[in-house]
Amino acid sequence: MTVSSAPTYRYVIQVALPVPLYRNFEYDSNELPAVGARVRVPFGQRQLIGICLGESPQPDSRFARKPIHEVLDQQSVWPPALWRLLYWAADYYQHPLGDVLHHALPVLARQGEALSYQATERYEVTDAGAALALTELARAPQQQRLLAALQQRPLLARDVRAGEYSVSAVNALQQKQLICKQRHIPQQQSDWAFGLDAEPLQLNPEQALAVAAIAASRKAQAYLLEGVTGSGKTEVYLQVMAEVLRAGKQVLVLVPEIGLTPQTLRRFQQRFSVPVVMLHSALTDRERLDAWLDAQQGSAAIIIGTRSAVFTPCQQLGLIIIDEEHDGSLKQQDGFRYHARDVAVLRAHEEKVPIILGSATPSLETINNAQQKRYAHLRLTQRAGHAKPAKHVIIDVKGLPLKAGLSAPLISMMREQLQAGQQVLLFLNRRGFAPALMCHECGWLAHCARCDAYFTVHQQAQELQCHHCGSQQRMPRQCHDCGSTQLVGRGTGTEQLEQVLEEVFPEFPVLRIDRDTTRRKGSLQQHLSDARANKYQLLVGTQMLAKGHHFPEVTLVALLDVDGALYSADFRAAERLGQLYTQVAGRAGRASKQGTVVLQTHHPEHELVQDLVNNGYGHFAVTALHERRLTQLPPFSQLALFRTEALQAQAASDALQAIAQLFPSVDGAMVLGPMPAVMERRAGKYRYQLLLQCRDRALRTQLLRHILPRLEGLAELRRVRWSLDVDPQDFS
Ligand code: ADP
Ligand code: ZN
Ligand code: ZN
Repeated sequence: MTVSSAPTYRYVIQVALPVPLYRNFEYDSNELPAVGARVRVPFGQRQLIGICLGESPQPDSRFARKPIHEVLDQQSVWPPALWRLLYWAADYYQHPLGDVLHHALPVLARQGEALSYQATERYEVTDAGAALALTELARAPQQQRLLAALQQRPLLARDVRAGEYSVSAVNALQQKQLICKQRHIPQQQSDWAFGLDAEPLQLNPEQALAVAAIAASRKAQAYLLEGVTGSGKTEVYLQVMAEVLRAGKQVLVLVPEIGLTPQTLRRFQQRFSVPVVMLHSALTDRERLDAWLDAQQGSAAIIIGTRSAVFTPCQQLGLIIIDEEHDGSLKQQDGFRYHARDVAVLRAHEEKVPIILGSATPSLETINNAQQKRYAHLRLTQRAGHAKPAKHVIIDVKGLPLKAGLSAPLISMMREQLQAGQQVLLFLNRRGFAPALMCHECGWLAHCARCDAYFTVHQQAQELQCHHCGSQQRMPRQCHDCGSTQLVGRGTGTEQLEQVLEEVFPEFPVLRIDRDTTRRKGSLQQHLSDARANKYQLLVGTQMLAKGHHFPEVTLVALLDVDGALYSADFRAAERLGQLYTQVAGRAGRASKQGTVVLQTHHPEHELVQDLVNNGYGHFAVTALHERRLTQLPPFSQLALFRTEALQAQAASDALQAIAQLFPSVDGAMVLGPMPAVMERRAGKYRYQLLLQCRDRALRTQLLRHILPRLEGLAELRRVRWSLDVDPQDFS
């Protein structure tokens, strides 16, 4: 049926919209927007920003179409290689294209803001400021540092923040009229010149081999750069980057955590005098769009960012680097669940540029790719400079009395190092005072009413918190079962450990680094620099500390309680323990002092423990990979996980049952479940899972493509929240 009175339009265009539906939408238009351009369209009662996918090949006449309201861009927002990558990602992860494209844009671009620079504010020296001798500010080092920087060149507000200049220094200099704030329209300056600010180091033979191999590659090639902590991977990055930058091309660097960016940034800035942008969460939306434009237009030479930076368009990309490629935070855990490492590898392929995956503890997936010769494998086995490898000690804690998790042999090893003036780092994979609150008389445990989980005691706040749903309660004074007032914490947390350490070693102050002590902006950086400066000899922390931070004076590192990982239901637990152990061990004994790594365990005879300690991560990983092959687990099979959440367990399970029934029975594919998640209840909802395990990726994609368009019709799915996770990393 056609509506005769409707005006006629020349084109029917297809638009991808940010809605959770597995299809695109059609709109009328008199002009044909460029493929990849943003358009503003009506959608129900709302207006949405969508992306033009081109003219509709076969307009669907069942629906009345509306005209688009506005075309926002003259050309595609993305260069062709990135556009192909985004299409690939939507298909590979079986995620709605509209949402994938939406995710790949900075917030302001999603809202329809023009993709151009706006006037921003920046700081400049006044005439007085330019003339002032820096020695005049000797008594105000913060102000001196800022003025010195501004005498070199003006700084955008975002760079002042990124450079960690204090607000009071900014204000003080403004009051003295030495600096002022000016409106400034950024200029496109894609003709930055390459410059070296510092001489490169003399490479050792392994480093030289790695740099030569990568620099010689003329085509897209992936390199696994495997090197223990301190083996000089960063120096390899820097020297490969130098060649790329010299040729006028850009480098995209992905780091797992924003906490690592200032450190990385500093090393890059010390070496190169080229414009660097950082994409991180502390930027305002405007600053983020500007940084994105800097990359897109070629005025940034080096782009550093976390996970989502993998989608940043670059005008002249020459190299991608992923530091700590094994790190779990490269995987997005909600919404569009992509793995930035895997996307980056494909991006490098599409853009025909080399990619370096660096790690001391590569993921088993990446090691497998190297074994299969898909990636070239470069190894750095020596610690740079003269650092010696660490000594490994296992302490069997079975039957030993423990003080907040510390055994007597460990305490005496610690004392020895502390008295010699060295730093000691204790690693505990928990936070809070104690994981649970227990009645000493009857054994009752304080339990979250909404989850299958125990409350965690937070001593400082005097409250109980559920780490799964966030519920909070004041600390009870009495047992809920027997009324006893003898309530004790069970298990050890970083806070309890800190207290016990203060009793055992009263002369050595403790620095605790975990999520609780680093909540305030900048406090992680402050703690890390205090630790590096040896202001504290005793360091206590969670896995935050295991990532890439360098503490030259630490000579003893101990892992107190990791036995849980040895018998975990999660098939990746052993790999993660291996990575954690090795990363933590890497904190010990840099420079000229030999370090010791202590593992306290109830299971010293465990095969994985023995392999790890005696043969190192490389050997351990090969064994673990062999086991994956025998058990047909990734990377030797391909997984996809459907999750549901509902107020009733039955509803969560039924929805997955209905999905399971849609799968045709084919060779090489198995559907497992529905089954309850490891944590069956969270925040009052029941959680279920359905696992699809396939022989290969092609079969998995084929099956998912078959299933997903049919899900919209399932009544069972309307009563639950559901999601699909391709290559799931986490099964909790
Ligand atoms: P990684 O990134 O593998 O942890 P880094 O690149 O940070 O290692 O190097 C560790 C330390 O060794 C740094 O202080 C670095 O300056 C130094 N270093 C690296 N390569 C060399 C070299 N070829 N000669 C001397 N020192 C080096
Ligand atoms: Zn009791
Ligand atoms: Zn809870």
